[in-house]
Amino acid sequence: TSTPTAQSCELSSALFERARAVTPGGVNSPVRAFNAVGGTPRFIGSARGAWLTDVDGNEYVDLICSWGPMLLGHAHPEVVAALQAAAARGTSYGTPTEGEVALVEEIVRRTPVERLRLVSSGTEATMSAIRLARGFTGRDVVVKFAGCYHGHVDALLASAGSGLTTFSIPGTPGVPESSTALTLVLPYNDRDAVTAAFAEHGDRIACLITEAAPGNMGVVPPDPGFNKFLSETCREHGALFVSDEVMTGFRVSASGQWGTDGANEGWTPDLMTFGKVMGGGLPAAAFGGRADVMHHLAPEGPVYQAGTLSGNPLATAAGLATLRLADDGVYAHIASVADTLRTGIADAFGAAGVAHRIQSTGSMFSVFLTDRPVRDFADASTTDTVAYGAFFHAMLDRGVHLPPSAYESWFVSAAHDDRAVQAVLDALPDAARAAAAT
Ligand code: PMP
Repeated sequence: TSTPTAQSCELSSALFERARAVTPGGVNSPVRAFNAVGGTPRFIGSARGAWLTDVDGNEYVDLICSWGPMLLGHAHPEVVAALQAAAARGTSYGTPTEGEVALVEEIVRRTPVERLRLVSSGTEATMSAIRLARGFTGRDVVVKFAGCYHGHVDALLASAGSGLTTFSIPGTPGVPESSTALTLVLPYNDRDAVTAAFAEHGDRIACLITEAAPGNMGVVPPDPGFNKFLSETCREHGALFVSDEVMTGFRVSASGQWGTDGANEGWTPDLMTFGKVMGGGLPAAAFGGRADVMHHLAPEGPVYQAGTLSGNPLATAAGLATLRLADDGVYAHIASVADTLRTGIADAFGAAGVAHRIQSTGSMFSVFLTDRPVRDFADASTTDTVAYGAFFHAMLDRGVHLPPSAYESWFVSAAHDDRAVQAVLDALPDAARAAAAT
């Protein structure tokens, strides 16, 4: 076990104060604010490989990896070199470039999409995929699952009303009821709810969108065959199946979650969305799929979608360098790191007597502090967030930066070597005891 290092957070605290004076909550994306776990977020000054260094000079093993993108670790020399070379050629032209073609070709090679369009964030990707699905089908209703996050798209920021197939109410002020009134929210992994919703509303449903394997309520893998069932149900009713691989894409396998189910079971989504890893830490995302559907996008077709920085030369350079380096060895390495960590986590919580469930898809995993299997959002909500907060801070004090929320996936990278893994293993027993003490 390890003792906490004497961390000073003076400079992080001062920056957080400055930030709060000019930015809501002091952060540019809510979960960074530590609201779920309390305390002061660490302002990072630099990062290399598996390690973050904050502005006070404290070092942390990074198990956030920018919420997924940093598959190769931070500041990978070849990615940095590709970025430097791209920057020297100019940062944005507003005209087509070879880099865009090459990145799209690489994604088409790895996935079942026939045509792909680049955008700058996962939110844009899902928003555009839904618009295209509605434009293509001439229908309005969108089906999603409770606990799946697809970015802050109005129609997808919906929480379920009462009853399984009730049209939903907005999950946040600022989203008009009219935006979510066409969104059906169902419990994840619930075939009966899907069947019932399509039986009642099938001829109005433009698409069903799902995380290919949910990672935004913690990791809740699809039951075997669930994605195939969704794909078939959509087809039966003339709706499009949209698989959101923003988080799982190029991380769960070389071809994402689809590589572990659809590729073996012989089905393909009608549309897919990607982000995170494909941008190598820069803003890049994409949506794509069936050629006959994508053909409806402007300028070929009538469904409008555009972006000043879409396919940005820096983002495509970082993404392409990342994907080209993401070979079988990388996926084998992160799988083995995740395995070692899962074993250490289970041992530590077991020894401390803390009820826990570790759930994974590939190297993506999360730790629920609950004693029941987590198959949907209701199950996920039973996790002990107070105990997680204590665990999180004990890990942070011992130099391990976990996601500051109990409902997030943990991410590892190709740069998580024995030293980084050992630092996590050393911190776990004390941190599990801290969770037990809550
Ligand atoms: N879809 C999924 C599955 C995601 O995990 C996320 C982001 N966590 C998004 C969409 C939205 O992506 P972005 O934050 O780039 O808008």
